[in-house]
Amino acid sequence: MGVADGWVEIGDRVFVRRYEFYDQNIGVILGDGEALVIDTRATYGQAREILADLRTLTTDPVTVVIDTHGHWDHTFGNAVFRPATIWGHEGCVTFMERTGEARKPAIATNTPELAGFLDEIVIDPPDRTFASTATVEVGSRAVALQYLGRGHTDHDIVISVPGTDVLFAGDLLENGAVPWYGDGYPIDWVTTAAELARLVDPERGVVVPGHGDHAGRAFADRQTASIAALAALAARVHAGEITLEDAIEARPFPEHPAEDARRPLVRALAQLRGELTPPGARRD
Ligand SMILES: [Zn+2]
Repeated sequence: MGVADGWVEIGDRVFVRRYEFYDQNIGVILGDGEALVIDTRATYGQAREILADLRTLTTDPVTVVIDTHGHWDHTFGNAVFRPATIWGHEGCVTFMERTGEARKPAIATNTPELAGFLDEIVIDPPDRTFASTATVEVGSRAVALQYLGRGHTDHDIVISVPGTDVLFAGDLLENGAVPWYGDGYPIDWVTTAAELARLVDPERGVVVPGHGDHAGRAFADRQTASIAALAALAARVHAGEITLEDAIEARPFPEHPAEDARRPLVRALAQLRGELTPPGARRD
């Protein structure tokens, strides 16, 4: 599957579309007379592209949006979907309020093609939140949201659709790329990813990562093993058994160049030292 495939139906009236920018997946769930969109992309223009593309599936309005987590490439399009209800984990609101506006200058520097489109973006966090689980209705169809623990951020959620074998994993998984650890909790991520993988049926399950092709249980298991291996390496460095350079050499994401492999390990070491408490977050 690739960006040329348009919408792909991966379950009964459950679709995914892979956009070239950041190789990102956007999900759509159709109910009776209403549509639900999972993640809203990085700019108003990108969000409007979702709405335009959606017209090839339905003329029904988007009444519900779900943010898998608060990163800008998943939420900066939120305002375009109003007056839809926007759902997310309660930590997603905190995260967006703390980082959304503050990160715009860095986004403009790192992604210059977006620089001219950031000023108009109003940070518009979810207005419906939950802590552990929630059920969302779209056109008399139920959609299940779950928080499985900290991982890629402190507030990633997964989305499943009863009656289908689909699980939207957000950025807890990335296919064909290394998951991004910059706001991550690398030690907690091990159990969170394992829990996620268990939700994917080994035969029929379809898991949609935040970025890259959708896949099956084997992919989820494979990436979970890499996430666990990274945490285990960090623990050995922390215990003084090996050096950070040894751990970089043994990195579990072979596609990661050595200079990029350092940061996830450094982040994991910071968590092992108890240093990863963002402003406003609980320490536990
Ligand atoms: Zn992310």
